[in-house]
Amino acid sequence: MAIIKDITQEEYQEATRSTKVEVGSCPKCGCHDLNYGEMEFVDGNAVYYEADCNDCGAVLHEWYTLEFDGCDVMADDTSGEVKYTKPGEKLLNDRSEEDEDGTFNQEMKDSEQNNMDRREE
Ligand SMILES: [Zn+2]
Repeated sequence: MAIIKDITQEEYQEATRSTKVEVGSCPKCGCHDLNYGEMEFVDGNAVYYEADCNDCGAVLHEWYTLEFDGCDVMADDTSGEVKYTKPGEKLLNDRSEEDEDGTFNQEMKDSEQNNMDRREE
């Protein structure tokens, strides 16, 4: 039979406290008992969550940087098929049947190199 010990809220917080700054914990006391509020977008590539610590009362913003990770797009108006793309892949309209996976071909790499050469001049 399992032994179940009642612990207080304080004991629970003490036992689960973080020793480093990490997601979901108070950056002052390490407590995981955060009270989250609104999420705010900042400059298009970052967001923060407002939060306050239910243990020590710290008021904080938990920051995240957004990273572009491609698009999904309706293949056409009727089929309902969705195509998925990743950053750096060929445009869907420029793909042949063989490179449906979106991998670069040598021609694209060459044209990118030319663009870089031009910039250096
Ligand atoms: Zn705290």
